[in-house]
Amino acid sequence: MVTAGARCAYCRSREDLVAHHKTPRKLGGLDHYDNLEPVCRSCHPAIEQDARAEAELVWERPEVDRAARPRRRPTLRRPY
Ligand SMILES: [Zn+2]
Repeated sequence: MVTAGARCAYCRSREDLVAHHKTPRKLGGLDHYDNLEPVCRSCHPAIEQDARAEAELVWERPEVDRAARPRRRPTLRRPY
């Protein structure tokens, strides 16, 4: 899933890399290389929250029902 030799885009770690979705799948992000970047598991939760907040600003889509979104912080334990 993650390119060999990849490093975390934030702390440059080579350990425990996961594919971060720059635009969350929930908001129309694709499992495409352009939308993925390697980050390590320790950076990922913070990045994910930032990215999601940003993506929601950019991707205002009326068909996404705001009321249906969980208000509490999302748990970031999806199986990768
Ligand atoms: Zn990192």
